[in-house]
Amino acid sequence: MTALDERRLFGTNGVRGIVNKELTLELVLELSQAIGTFFKAGKMVVGSDGRTSSPALRNLVIGGLASVGCKTYDIGQAPTPMIDFLTRGWRADGGIAVTASHNPPEYNGIKTIAPDGIETDRNEELEIEKIYFSRSWRRAEWDRVGDVVKAETGLREYLDSIKMQVDISAIESRRMKVAVDPGNGVSALTTTILLSELGCSVVTINGNVDGTFPGRPSEPRPENVGSLSGLVRSSGADFGVALDGDGDRAIFVDESGEAHWGDRSMALIADDYWSTKSRGTIVTPVSSSRAIKEIADARNGKIVWTRVGSVDVSHKMIEIGAELGAEENGGIFYAPHIAVRDGSMASALIAGILVKSKQPLSKLLSALPSYELAKEKLPCPNHLKKQVLDALRERMSKYNPETIDGVKILFEDGTSILLRPSGTEPIFRLMAEAKSASAARSLADQYKGIINEIIKEKSRDA
Ligand code: MG
Repeated sequence: MTALDERRLFGTNGVRGIVNKELTLELVLELSQAIGTFFKAGKMVVGSDGRTSSPALRNLVIGGLASVGCKTYDIGQAPTPMIDFLTRGWRADGGIAVTASHNPPEYNGIKTIAPDGIETDRNEELEIEKIYFSRSWRRAEWDRVGDVVKAETGLREYLDSIKMQVDISAIESRRMKVAVDPGNGVSALTTTILLSELGCSVVTINGNVDGTFPGRPSEPRPENVGSLSGLVRSSGADFGVALDGDGDRAIFVDESGEAHWGDRSMALIADDYWSTKSRGTIVTPVSSSRAIKEIADARNGKIVWTRVGSVDVSHKMIEIGAELGAEENGGIFYAPHIAVRDGSMASALIAGILVKSKQPLSKLLSALPSYELAKEKLPCPNHLKKQVLDALRERMSKYNPETIDGVKILFEDGTSILLRPSGTEPIFRLMAEAKSASAARSLADQYKGIINEIIKEKSRDA
């Protein structure tokens, strides 16, 4: 492997960095030329989130693509799932989302989208990186520089696709009140309209697009959506939803104002799915709570575990034809719409479940199984990680461990552990789950001991 091959641009979800520092305008322009070359100078869909740097970067991306010879459909500000959806829907050769998702305002980034609407996989990213680092992108002849088309019809197509997945008349007849917190992100342009069109009366907070994110941090978490909880209570809303900066993740607030992490909404959507589609398959990363396993067992449903990462979930869903995917961080993937996480789709699904059940959200959530989590970080030199995982898997073989990403063991007594190597630091992350916090803690302590022993053994052998 040469030094060139070791250089990386793409992380877990695209290329990200602080604007004008790691993510320079030169990089964005040349990367766009490399991406346009990778997509064979074809038809491209481009959109951006609402960050202060996004208009400038989007224009650079469009210029870069056009210089290669791509015809570009500029949809302006839009949530990432809408850009994904239109890339597929308009049969484009590829797409680019200018976004840094939920990162702080000084960041921005580039996500590349394959024709199926899913972010490019690692192999495709390697190809793009190869073109970029070897500076071997195309340069179109002057009369072959691509057209740029302002595309306006995308929002309608996107919202209609979501509405087709739910019982519109049932939701309309209930005349729900919903509090929406887009966190000053681009879901302000979609989720609020969607819910209004479903007959909900919508109240908003942080509802204007503002790339400085003045309202709250861009990643919605139960501890930072207090204003939304207040709005739910003061307005008497049936539920509240808080989205991240590019609108692909959503967490929910019940009618009492209590905010719930994504594992709870995921459990509710999974339970509802399996109640109507028994034997259906849900795709979820190994890091998900075993609550989903308990629900699957009760409903006769099937789970397919993946590596941690939204792109892995999307690809697995397409591969096996699964309709539903879910992540604990508030990512809900609904393939009849599109197999990417989409906070607007998640909001419509929750509205549909509330109408169907005729029960308040707090009651629905409290009826579902829940687990307590204990976490540990275990130092381990990078070169020993594989041996340690192999040894643990060997030692635990009677429990039939899941090894797609680290080692996960679901014990018969209803507890579970997950050991995953960090990709960036010389540590393992250990998670233990049980019905009570004290049981989770003692399980974590027990396995911390076992794993540290293995690490010691392997360092002696080395
Ligand atoms: Mg996001």
